[in-house]
Order: sequence, then C-alpha cells, then structure tokens
Amino acid sequence: MSFRGSGGGILNILEARRVTVSYRRPDGEQFKAVDDVSFDLPPNQAVGLIGESGSGKSTVARLLLGLVAADSGQVIFRGKDVRFAGRDLARYRRQVGVVFQEPFESLNPAMTVRELVGEPLKVQRSGRGTAGSPSSISDVLSLVGIPAALSDRYPGDLSGGQQQRVGIARAIVNDPALLVLDEPTSSLDVSTRAQILNLLQRIKETLSISYLFISHDMETVAHLCDQIYVMYRGRVVEHGRVSDVLDNPLHPYTQALIAARDPHGAGVGTRLLPDLVGSGVTAPAGCVLEPRCPYREESCRNGVVNLSDAGLEHQVACIKFREIAEVRNRSSL
Ligand code: ADP
Ligand code: MG
Repeated sequence: MSFRGSGGGILNILEARRVTVSYRRPDGEQFKAVDDVSFDLPPNQAVGLIGESGSGKSTVARLLLGLVAADSGQVIFRGKDVRFAGRDLARYRRQVGVVFQEPFESLNPAMTVRELVGEPLKVQRSGRGTAGSPSSISDVLSLVGIPAALSDRYPGDLSGGQQQRVGIARAIVNDPALLVLDEPTSSLDVSTRAQILNLLQRIKETLSISYLFISHDMETVAHLCDQIYVMYRGRVVEHGRVSDVLDNPLHPYTQALIAARDPHGAGVGTRLLPDLVGSGVTAPAGCVLEPRCPYREESCRNGVVNLSDAGLEHQVACIKFREIAEVRNRSSL
C-alpha cells in the first residue's frame, strides 16, 4: 500500500524538518544533540541512520516516538504536523512501532511470550486495522519465526535472537506504518544478526512498512536499507541512496566510516580521522568535523556547513568535497 497525496505523488510516511533537540549536561551547559536535522521516510523504504556513538541517533528515535520534544523544527506524519499531546499522541503512537537494542531489557520477565505480544493489542487498538484479532498473536509469532511451542515461555527461557524476535513481534502486532529500529542487531552475535536482518527484510516486504533503521555499522545498513543518512555530532553530513553513498562516499566522515570496515575496498585513498583528545562539548563554529578532518583548512571554520546537492539524490555537507574526491581518485590510481 502506498499513501498518495492529492497531487498524485507518493507522500512520505514521515518527514523531519530542521529539527533541533537540546539536552542539558550535568555541568549545566545546554548542547544540541540533534542540530537542524531533516530527513524523509518514504513508504515501504528502509532508511538508515548511521554514525558513531553519541552522534544523536537515539535522540532522533526518541523524537519520533514522542519521548523528547524538539526545540524547533517539525515532525510531519502523513502530511500532518505531529503534536505530541493527548489523542494525537495516542493515535500517532499506534502507527509507530519501536525495536530497541537490548531485547531482554525491553521485555517484562514475568510475562509469557503470548502475553508480551498481546500486550500492545490491549493497550492500543489496531493501527491500520488489519491486525487486532487474538489470532493475530499467533500469526505475528509465526511471521517472526517463534514456534508456537515457545508461546508460554518467559523471556529468560529464550535465546537473544528469540528475544529480539519477540521484541519485533511486539513492535508490529498493531500493524504500524513505521518501525523505528534503534541498533536492533547490535547486541546479537554475527550469525543471529544475519538471521534478524533477513527477518526484518521479509517483514518489510510482507507488511509494506517503512523503517528508520539506526546503526553504527555500515555493513548492517547496507544490507537492509535503501537510503542512508550519515550523522556526526548531531548533524546530517551526507545523505543518498545506499549504493551511491557506499560506492562514492563524499564526506570525509563517511569515507572514514567505510574505510574502518573495509580497508581494501572503498577505503583506498582515504585519510583516517584521528581520535579527538579532549574534544570538549562546544561544537565547532564551522563544519562539525573540522577539528578532526584531515582535509581541513581555514575556510572550513567560516560558519555552519549545510547539506548541498552533489548528485542525484545525493547531498553532502562539506565545502571541499570535489577537491577531496580528486585527491582520493589520484591516490587510488
Ligand atoms: P547515539 O544514539 O548516536 O549514541 P544519543 O542520541 O544517545 O546518541 O546521544 C547524543 C548526545 O546526547 C550524546 O552526547 C549523549 O551523551 C547526549 N545525551 C543523550 N541523552 C541525554 C540526556 N537524557 N541528557 C543529557 N545528555 C544526553
Ligand atoms: Mg544510540
């Protein structure tokens, strides 16, 4: 199912427009964990959000789930500004499922698998109206690959992979339009991770659902996603189709992320980023990567660097991306 606007174009399920979210540090300093971030989640697509720890990914997830408020900017769900209050919030939350990194921590250990998967149905009526009957519990369990024999077991009886399958079942039992997946495979071993990624792929195709898939791992995102947003220090530094970003990463930060995974492939010619010692809490005045960037120059400090078009559906927030591409091309010859 695709959701079409009156203009006949396909409407995004969700759009974040220039959202900023601040926290206060223990020392009292206010800082922007998410800074002027915009992204689109089109129907039936998996959109990846990647960046190292602390880049603001989970804050984006919390924002979409209504758990933190934006200082400024808008979240638009199916064409309407989401106002996180009262009935609107309840209605919106039915449409957005969530899967967390630690399945065990998000499951009540005193509830059986059947109770855990049935619970969201009691709390909320069906999201899109195609789930909701008691039989949907067994349907959902079968969809996520949990054998019926396990439905009276408790989370503590299950493997990590099975626990995450139950977490996914809870997230989809109300038939949401969007799943927010915050590092859903990061706590799993490699073979279980591959199984859960395949499951997520299958669910996306079966349920025609959109994903915001958050990960610090490029390989995982490449496996599942159609598009990718790369975040660093609260800002989106690159966006594009997964194949374009992987084959032709334009931002030095994206290049370093890829090189870290694959020193012999896309990493050829990449300059690695030095770790920052005592980087401090104050964001740089110009490009967010500047203090760490091997290509930095004076002009990189002249004000905020916004995303600009670098190709079809490919944007980058780097004033030197063309020069850097030339340098990389030369050094990989
Ligand atoms: P990620 O998921 O990419 O690791 P987070 O969104 O969790 O990043 O965090 C982004 C930044 O905000 C980090 O510097 C983190 O320490 C800080 N942060 C997250 N949650 C809070 C909070 N509740 N209060 C203060 N700072 C927070
Ligand atoms: Mg996180």
